[in-house]
Amino acid sequence: MIRIRYLLLLIAISFLGSCAEPTLEVEQEDLLFPKLQIMKKKELPAEFQNVPQEIKEVLFGISETKIGEGLLRRAAEALRNSGVTATFVNRLNLRHEFRYQGDGRVEYNFVDMSTDEVLQLVFHELIHMAQEPKGELSYYLENEIEAYLGQYFYCGMANKEFKALRGRDRNFEKKIEKLAKFFDIYTGKPTNESMFQNAFLIALGEIGLHPLYSSSLGWRMGPPPYAVCILSGLM
Ligand SMILES: [Zn+2]
Repeated sequence: MIRIRYLLLLIAISFLGSCAEPTLEVEQEDLLFPKLQIMKKKELPAEFQNVPQEIKEVLFGISETKIGEGLLRRAAEALRNSGVTATFVNRLNLRHEFRYQGDGRVEYNFVDMSTDEVLQLVFHELIHMAQEPKGELSYYLENEIEAYLGQYFYCGMANKEFKALRGRDRNFEKKIEKLAKFFDIYTGKPTNESMFQNAFLIALGEIGLHPLYSSSLGWRMGPPPYAVCILSGLM
């Protein structure tokens, strides 16, 4: 009888122990935390549901930064308001590049490109989706300058090397870096409007020299003053 009482006492103690609060809290955290992470990774805006899986992975990567998450939401909103969705088409005849075609459509080929290059170029294309969701591409060079400037800020915030139209020199990248000096990422406004306009014009002159943006392909400049409305809204 004494032995049985002792046994019952032991069972009672171990039962109490297993119900103690700290143990329960740990178990709840273990259960909830991974679920939340998976949910976050799976949520892309509806306008991006039909893009290839390889692009979805890139979009998840972009949305890990605050500026990237904001841009993805902004691009989705613009597409939704225009009644179109994002389309990404892999083209064998392109050589490691991304091209915005208008109406939410991007043609691309990222063979031989690093992950960091792909991330910043998709970021660039999202800016175009936010700028010109509907209709054919307008071929305004100032829209390209805004997309490259955004790419530059994204790289700074995501700790990646900024790469834009790099040939034998870094001339164009340097013009974008100079332009960025006159833009305040905290207010989303130029720090000095005339210096910003001046640096913008110099960047426009430089991009116009690149064969991808030649006037014979239809590229042109609109009148000043130049603004970066999409970027301003993200800061
Ligand atoms: Zn572009």
